Amino acid sequence: MKKSNMYDWCVPWNPLAGECPHKCVYCSTKSIPWKSVREKYSGELRLDEKAMKKNLGSGNTWFVCAQNDLFANTVPQDFIEEILHRCRIYDDNEYVFQTKNPVRYMRCGCTFPSSSLFGCTIETNHIYENDMGLTISKSPSVASRMLAMEKLESRKFITIEPILDFDVDILSDWIKRINPEFVNIGADSKRHNLPEPSADKIHALIEKLTEYGIEIREKHNLHRLHDLRHTCATYLLKSKGEDGQHIPLTVVQRIMGHSQISTTLLYAKVLDEIMKSEMKKLRFK
Ligand code: SF4
Repeated sequence: MKKSNMYDWCVPWNPLAGECPHKCVYCSTKSIPWKSVREKYSGELRLDEKAMKKNLGSGNTWFVCAQNDLFANTVPQDFIEEILHRCRIYDDNEYVFQTKNPVRYMRCGCTFPSSSLFGCTIETNHIYENDMGLTISKSPSVASRMLAMEKLESRKFITIEPILDFDVDILSDWIKRINPEFVNIGADSKRHNLPEPSADKIHALIEKLTEYGIEIREKHNLHRLHDLRHTCATYLLKSKGEDGQHIPLTVVQRIMGHSQISTTLLYAKVLDEIMKSEMKKLRFK
């Protein structure tokens, strides 16, 4: 099964056709090259009968309506009910939902499948307009999303993608209050000329969230925004001193200005060899 473009840990299932009411300027659905897909996601919202009949099997993790927002205010209630009913028929799966209108998770009054993971996009703590003076998305405000996610008592995650410029203290505090299982962070891969944060801000946000014990799932596309830091940390971690030994993690931590060693470890994650030798040293101390 083809993995979702957004997440490599689940598979998309797209039973909702028609144009997403939120009309985000950066929506990846608009740039899909295939005519048949563009047609599916244009016009009035409707159920895709073929997708609705799909056998969802068991033991799968489905990303429900990956190309649309099932919980947007104008999605008819019966569409939500029918799609969730279909999920419950195949209740041995995990279902991932994601919305920019999380208050409807609670207000729709529907029964969700027994294994559901509720996601919400919070790209920033600001309100942005594009150069035409229009807001970047017609979705509910990020502040209202935060409040709804804070109230939601279920397994939940936050996605900061595409990440937009933000205030480190405010956004990290919002996420701490929501207390998600993990936070996905990614950049605008199609370059829509959005207001993007500096590498230092991204680094500071990751560091704060790591301090709060929140798992960070960094998307590959984020490297475009903080590549220099990434390259520098990786270079230091790969380098060896005159004694032929790698620079200790604690030294790299100091050079990079990480207050927590766990942040340095995020960069070292790909460097297994270094990790192993550091572990050996610790064992012999
Ligand atoms: S909410 Fe998601 S699917 Fe809808 S327009 Fe925005 S990015 Fe696209």
